[in-house]
Order: sequence, then structure tokens, then C-alpha cells
Amino acid sequence: MQKILVANRGEIAVRVIQSVRRMGLRSVAVYSDVDRSAPHVLLADESVCLGDPAPAASYLNIEKILAAARTTGADAIHPGYGFLSENANFARAVAEAGLTFIGPPPEAIEIMGSKLAAKDAVRGYDIPMVPGTDTALTDPEEALDIARNLGFPVLVKASAGGGGKGMRIVNQPGEFTAQLERARSEAMNAFGDDAVFVEKYIGSPRHIEVQILADQHGHCVHLFERECSVQRRHQKVVEEAPSPVVHAAMRQAIGAAAVRVAQACGYTGAGTVEFIVDEALNFYFLEMNTRLQVEHPVTELTTGIDLVEQQIRVARGEPLAFGQEDLSQRGHAIELRIYAEDPFDDFLPSIGTLIRFQVPEGPDIRVDNGYREGMEVPLHYDPLLAKLIVFGADRSDAISRMIEAIDQFHVQGVQTTLPFGRFVMCSKPFRSGQFDTHFVRDHFTVGALRPDDHEARVAAQIAAMLQHQHEKTVKLHRHVSPGWMARGRGDG
Ligand code: ADP
Ligand code: ADP
Ligand code: MG
Repeated sequence: MQKILVANRGEIAVRVIQSVRRMGLRSVAVYSDVDRSAPHVLLADESVCLGDPAPAASYLNIEKILAAARTTGADAIHPGYGFLSENANFARAVAEAGLTFIGPPPEAIEIMGSKLAAKDAVRGYDIPMVPGTDTALTDPEEALDIARNLGFPVLVKASAGGGGKGMRIVNQPGEFTAQLERARSEAMNAFGDDAVFVEKYIGSPRHIEVQILADQHGHCVHLFERECSVQRRHQKVVEEAPSPVVHAAMRQAIGAAAVRVAQACGYTGAGTVEFIVDEALNFYFLEMNTRLQVEHPVTELTTGIDLVEQQIRVARGEPLAFGQEDLSQRGHAIELRIYAEDPFDDFLPSIGTLIRFQVPEGPDIRVDNGYREGMEVPLHYDPLLAKLIVFGADRSDAISRMIEAIDQFHVQGVQTTLPFGRFVMCSKPFRSGQFDTHFVRDHFTVGALRPDDHEARVAAQIAAMLQHQHEKTVKLHRHVSPGWMARGRGDG
């Protein structure tokens, strides 16, 4: 393996290329028209334009990406996360083109892409699962009986769901049949598959997941847990390692369970096994994400393992160079996802030009970033701008560093989730470690944002407006001035 094409954009494309370079390999970036001067393009050894920014015409276009690999002579493709990363057909097409797909076998992607197939695969591997059905619900009468037996509230879930979409809480038996039908038609529209099932709704859960690494020689290890309970609309916003509630015995048990899940589907490479944890700290298997995860840096900082490098080594056929006993967790890492969204206005996407984009620096600060000052934030893609990750000796140390780093992160031109991150770091439940996945719903209000941030938001809006006016004026002058200037000069 000499040359790796990265089929992605933004911070994750940059992140992958960094490891490719560090390993002395060559990198190829792909980009759409709006990403022409993006950092991932500038960092790569070579780059290929995919054209039209619409995802279907660019980062999701299998034909164009394979053609880019052919013209540049790339021999492997790293998919990043999102886009084609969990598309088994893409993984197959890459292999059929004679290239290496840096990820698990397509069969493993397929099994884990369906929540029902995943439950089926891990049966017999002693994996605790949330009480519920393990086949698609079709008969409404029978489904209602099952729901009654589980006890309300229950959660109706789309088997093909992802990214927090395709889930419905049903509180009363009377609502169940209607909600079931709605869930099925929504699942059909969103995922092209109307299979839904029902699970007991866990009232005050934590989301805790385990990073695993498996090679092609039958070795599999886990790299401990990540706590991802700070979520908004079932989407993670703050992640950390280790979890403030996981004790040594639980860590060992949940890690071992994650390894068994990976073994159940013949997994290779880096993957994440997600669990939901109840108040008594019982953990239940939710799903496996068959790719690098957005929040992988907190694991890298606490274990010292470069996960992208390991993905590449595994894909090259190398055996893992370490066993479970060689791995340990050290210190505490926290990640904040910085989205171009407005926390003052219900987290609406905020598009515009990054008039100012100054990232913090320091020995224990890591910024995984896909943007630069002057760039436009395109509306075609996920609004993640960057991730701010800090490392501390312990949790409270990491929280203090995160607050300092947030205060040194300056963005103007779009609204971001930075003020929201500051709110999380300063909030009592987060600081105490006693919170669940409803943390944002239960504790966040616009009024809880720092007064300084309210002022800064107004100032930023005025600055953006003035900048916009200024640009319009400059364009106007450029437009009307050539003749005027030429005459002026001639006169002198
Ligand atoms: P993570 O735990 O890594 O955040 P997410 O489920 O939030 O996992 O998704 C990570 C990326 O994958 C995001 O960019 C998200 O938009 C994308 N994604 C997740 N599920 C889907 C899906 N079903 N279809 C398209 N993109 C998805
Ligand atoms: P997705 O593929 O959309 O990521 P998951 O099954 O991983 O779906 O669930 C996403 C989130 O939904 C979890 O992190 C958790 O917050 C919540 N959730 C999932 N299952 C349950 C459940 N049985 N009870 C309560 N909350 C749940
Ligand atoms: Mg999930």
C-alpha cells in the first residue's frame, strides 16, 4: 500500500491524511467545487475535483471516486465517517476495482447496518440486550401485546435507522398502533426499509461505547470506553474518556462484551460498539458502528494509540502489535463538537463566511479542523466545523482546560456551538458526572448561556452585516470603476 485516497471532506479528511503522511505514504484528496481550497485539499499530495457539490454528485458518488483512484494510481481508499463509510456496496466496489478498502469486510458492514440483523448475529455470544422484539413488527395486535408485556414507555425503532433518526417513544398503549404505523412509513421514506421493532424505553440512560480494534489474524482488543451521554436530538455533542461512572469491573465486562460483538460479525479494523446503560449500571448492546467514529480522538489521547494508523496497518494485513494487557487508559480527555449552529436559536444551521477563525493552541489542546479563515461554510454537508479536544490529568483538570480553550477559540461570521460547550462545562450535573442522555433537554435554556456570549453574538451579527455591506460596496466599485479609473489616470 503506497497511496491512499481519502473519500471524504472536512476535519476527518484532514485527520486521515495526517496519519497517512506520518506513515510515509502518499495521499489523494477528493473535493467538490465548493471545497476547492479546503484544508484537506491543500494537505494532500494530490487532489481530484469531483465537480458539483451535491453529495450524490461528489462525496457519495462511487463511480467518480473510483475514477479518481484510477487516474491517481491510488491503491487503497479510506472512507472516513458518514458519506460512503457504512455502505457495503461501496466496500465491495472498491475491492472489485482491485483496491483495498480501509475498513471492515462488507459482510460485517451489512450485518451491523441493520439493527435487527445485528441483534441476530450477536445472539449466542452472551451479549446483554435491551428487552424487546428481535424481529420486524408487522401484526399491530401482536405488537401491542409485546409492548404491554415490556411495559410502557417503549421505543419503536427503525432497523435501518442511524444518526438518531427513526426512533419514537410511545408512552401509552392507546397511542401505540398509530405510532407504529407512523414509524413504519417514516422508516420507509428515510431508509427505504420499513422494518421496525420495539424496545423497552430506558428512562434515565447513559450512552457508553467501546472502541475495538481487530486484525485479520483473529486478534481483537478493546481500547476502553467513551462516555457520550451529552446528546441533542439523539446526536452526541460532548464526549469523554474515561466515563465518570464506569468502575474497573464494569470496564472489564463491557470491554469484553464489545470484543465478543466484533467477533460475532467477523470484524476487522477499528469499530465501535455502543451500549445503553441504566441507572443501576446494567449495560445493553445498542449497535455497532463499522467505521472510525467522530469522537475517536478522546480514545487516542487516553491510550496513546493512533487509530487511523491502526486501521491502515490492519488493512495491509499486519497483525496487531499489542495485546489487551499492553493497553491502558491514562488521564482524561474531553471533546466538544463545534457545529456551525446557533445555540441561541434552537441550533439552527448557521451558514456564512468565516470572517475570523482562530483556534486555540497549547500542549494539551488538540483541534481536529476542516476549515480556515475566509472559507464559506457550505450548506450541502454536515455542519461540523471542527472538534476541540483537551487532555487533563483528571476529569476536573480536563474541564478547566476545556473552558480555557473555548475562551481562546474565536469564530466570527457564523454562530457555533462554542457557547453551548461552555455552558456544559460549567453546569453542575456535568461537573458532578451525574447526568444522562436527557441532560440537554433537562438543563439547557438559552438563558443559561453566558451573558458575555449573548453580547458577543449580537456584535458578531453586526460585524458580519458590515462585512457583507463592505463586500457589496467593493464589488460595486470594481464593477463601475475600470473606465473611470482609466480616464482618471489618463487625465493625470
Ligand atoms: P458518531 O457516533 O460517529 O457521531 P453518528 O451516528 O452521529 O455517529 O454519525 C456520524 C456521521 O455519519 C455523521 O456525519 C452523520 O451525519 C452520518 N450518518 C449517520 N447515520 C447516517 C445515515 N443513516 N445516513 C447518512 N449519514 C449518516
Ligand atoms: P442510531 O443508529 O440512531 O445511533 P442508537 O440505537 O445508537 O441509534 O440510539 C441512539 C440514541 O438513542 C442512544 O444514544 C440513546 O440516547 C437513545 N436510545 C436508543 N435506544 C434506547 C432505549 N432503548 N431507551 C432509551 N434511549 C435509547
Ligand atoms: Mg448509535
